[in-house]
Amino acid sequence: MYRKLSLFALAAAFLVAAFNFSPALAARYYEDQTDFTETSVPVTRYSWDQGTIEGCIYKEDGIDNSYYVWTKLAVQKWRQALREYTSNLEAWSFTARYVRSEAALVSCDVKFYIYDTYKDFPDYPAQSGAYTSVRFSEGESGLDARVYLSPFVLHGDGKTEIDLPTYAFRNSAVHEVGHVLGLGHMQSQKGYLMSPQFDYWEQDDQLPITTLELDALVGVYGDDGFD
Ligand SMILES: [Zn+2]
Repeated sequence: MYRKLSLFALAAAFLVAAFNFSPALAARYYEDQTDFTETSVPVTRYSWDQGTIEGCIYKEDGIDNSYYVWTKLAVQKWRQALREYTSNLEAWSFTARYVRSEAALVSCDVKFYIYDTYKDFPDYPAQSGAYTSVRFSEGESGLDARVYLSPFVLHGDGKTEIDLPTYAFRNSAVHEVGHVLGLGHMQSQKGYLMSPQFDYWEQDDQLPITTLELDALVGVYGDDGFD
């Protein structure tokens, strides 16, 4: 009887410890790094110091609303992951709202363009898949960040045109927002969120934000995010 009781007490103690001291259990927006081929990800510290990064999303006529939603969710995913990882729910403010016209993007810190085909990209044919441009401008904000997305892109083979499956479009949106925050590409050609390629024939789901990317960002911005 005594023996049973003490085992029960032990089990109860373990449960309490598990719930109290494992914040990772509660993480919904990122995962622990499990592939250790890479130990770091290149990162540039952009001067997102205004406290809040305001993103705006413009989509061409005829683009389904879901692409707008997935782009907005990509921004939310980074914001929430950074907040969870640093246990700082006030910091890392990064929003994204819908705008009706390209002209309305002017005042936004990050300009998202969703085109119906890669052929509409301003840098086509040099760019035939999603890409991000961050330039240092002479204006007040100091940065000019633009993200170009499309559900219709050209495969890396340079020939095959592809209607991206949902998870692939969403993965590229999260990847591009990573660039906006300053992350560069991994050395591994594929397999990581910030790899230069995403093989959606092999990988049939989105790649997660992991502690690898979050470590890199916290390393340059600190726990207080964009303040
Ligand atoms: Zn990239």
